[in-house]
Amino acid sequence: MASFRLALARPRASLAAPSLARTLATPAAVPHRPSHRVLILGGGAAGQAIAHQLTRSGRFAAGEIGVIDPSSTHDYQPGWTLVGGGLKQKEELRRPLADLLADTAGVVSLLPHTVTGLKPESNVVQTESGEVGYEHLVVAAGIDCKWDKVEGLAEALKVQGSGVSSIYSYDTCDKLFPQIDQLKKGKAVFTQPAGIIKCAGAPQKAMWLAEDHWRSHSLRRTNNADSPVSVTFASGMPSLFSVPKYSAALDVIREERGVEKLLQHNLIRIDGRKAVFAAGEGEVTLDFDLLHVAPPQGPREVFAKSALADAAGYIEVNSGTLQHVKHKNVWAAGDASSLPTSKTVAAITAQAPVLVENLLSVIDGKEAATTYDGYTSCPLLTSYGKVMLAEFKYGLEPKETFTRLFGIDQTVPRRAFYHLKKDFFPSVYYSSFIKGTWQGPKGWSLSAPSARSFSSSARRSFSTSSAAARDQPARRPRDPLATSPHAVRHALPSGETLIVRAPPTAGTPHSIADFGARPAQPGASAGELFNVAPHAGTGVLPPPIRAPKVAAKEPELNEQEITEIRRLRAADPTLSARALAKRFSCSATFIQIVAPLPKTVRRELEAERSLFDDSMGFNKRKASVERQERRALW
Ligand SMILES: Cc1cc2nc3c(=O)[nH]c(=O)nc-3n(C[C@H](O)[C@H](O)[C@H](O)COP(=O)(O)OP(=O)(O)OC[C@H]3O[C@@H](n4cnc5c(N)ncnc54)[C@H](O)[C@@H]3O)c2cc1C
Repeated sequence: MASFRLALARPRASLAAPSLARTLATPAAVPHRPSHRVLILGGGAAGQAIAHQLTRSGRFAAGEIGVIDPSSTHDYQPGWTLVGGGLKQKEELRRPLADLLADTAGVVSLLPHTVTGLKPESNVVQTESGEVGYEHLVVAAGIDCKWDKVEGLAEALKVQGSGVSSIYSYDTCDKLFPQIDQLKKGKAVFTQPAGIIKCAGAPQKAMWLAEDHWRSHSLRRTNNADSPVSVTFASGMPSLFSVPKYSAALDVIREERGVEKLLQHNLIRIDGRKAVFAAGEGEVTLDFDLLHVAPPQGPREVFAKSALADAAGYIEVNSGTLQHVKHKNVWAAGDASSLPTSKTVAAITAQAPVLVENLLSVIDGKEAATTYDGYTSCPLLTSYGKVMLAEFKYGLEPKETFTRLFGIDQTVPRRAFYHLKKDFFPSVYYSSFIKGTWQGPKGWSLSAPSARSFSSSARRSFSTSSAAARDQPARRPRDPLATSPHAVRHALPSGETLIVRAPPTAGTPHSIADFGARPAQPGASAGELFNVAPHAGTGVLPPPIRAPKVAAKEPELNEQEITEIRRLRAADPTLSARALAKRFSCSATFIQIVAPLPKTVRRELEAERSLFDDSMGFNKRKASVERQERRALW
């Protein structure tokens, strides 16, 4: 692990943009205070992506970017829903924070402190260990769960066997699946609070996975009354989802699967096995055997109370440029910002490049001109193997990548989207997103981020060549054979030239050439060159490249194992024959014979596969659609 400089001791006396320098107090007023050109508060999803993108711009020297974060670890929070559904282990989603920032060659300094106050008038941040100065400040400290806003919730989560769980924290996200699995009869209640939360679809995703699990174990019928396990979704919000298009599609699924819906029911108290909701003027009490709670959430107190916050406590930035409305050297992204869109990692994939481009422009003395359109996304797990992919922007207007590229309806839950959520997003998050190279629907961006247009000085330094150099023919590398002292050239009758170099003095250990090594003979004709007596042919053949195939072992599975294969296949038809074959050390064909997929599932798989085939040549299609859109704009 690389060691980090904890602070940059040298305060910078001047700012790059003269206009900005006039409006800001100089950090030199406090001589021994550490200071950074860019100081990022919070090393979460947004903080890391922005730190890496700034580093990749190549505009910062060692220690010039500081990240303040008290946490020693980082979690892929969207994966907690998968943990709640028994699809992932929470430990595999966690990484040491210092390791994630270790690849910046010292450009980023990780400061393991807690922000305790903000002084934007003097460009200073307070921590429990002292003050840190900055030229530009990026607030990316996320929001937190207000567990104490639901009476009895914190206590119930600690009690084993309380039936209460929540996917909204590392400590509690793995409580849900065992409870789902153990419940064979009774009432299951899933809640969503009134107000803003991280990924507003997550409480429902937990519910759909649980319902699907019980359905596959024959514990669910078409309605709650006839089902051994009844399912209720109680939300403090006025609809199932904020975007009407997806809300309507989810409501159709809800009716089909007989889930009870209670809107504008806000959980306020847990008392033993009773959940109490504020509804209208009064209270409604529901008995439960399983209660999954999405807690109320909001900005962290230190930021909410600061001069940078709006009335609701979020850092008040321009919704297009992400620049603070009053302090032009302050920026915000992610959950902590006032951006009026759903709080997701997907939103940050689009916010981070805009913030970085605008920040670099302002450093160059220009205006922040690039704008964010509010893009966000929510992969709504509706069952094991299916996801409805909601993508939208400001104004709750759908902005769907796959509809645009392939003309498919994203309100239809699909297996391909399920694999995006379950497999692709968790992997691209750590490999590319936080490294600053993944930009969501825009794909990978491997070029260094830059300000929108070059400043005049930058343009000079980027000039390609002088006029004199342009008039010269392009430089070609010399032919190494032409200059080799051992090369002999022969003009062939065809007009071509044969160049012979001295061969190695000894044959290779596994030479299979018909004739041995032969020194170049200056003056020999081309005909003489090939007129060579055949080699005695005693060379040893090289070993085979691949080990010879051994006939596949016949499966020797007993009746018990075959029953287990059938059970696993029935429980999860998405489990491939190949995966099962690997697990039971037999062939995939054997699995297909002993546990064939039902016709309906097979047909569905074929349909999904054809969708995948259609999606071949993604980049070509994307380019063509973008071309059409540009033409339409002309
Ligand atoms: C259960 C669940 C499911 C989700 N599902 C999805 C999904 O499917 N798709 C999706 O795109 N998004 C999803 N999200 C949302 C996504 O995880 C968040 O929007 C994203 O992590 C926000 O990133 P952030 O950088 O703003 O905040 P965070 O990642 O929370 O980072 C904030 C950082 O600030 C630090 N910090 C806190 N206090 C201080 C302080 N005083 N001083 C300094 N640093 C501080 C913290 O330690 C933390 O590292 C989900 C979230 C949850 C919880």
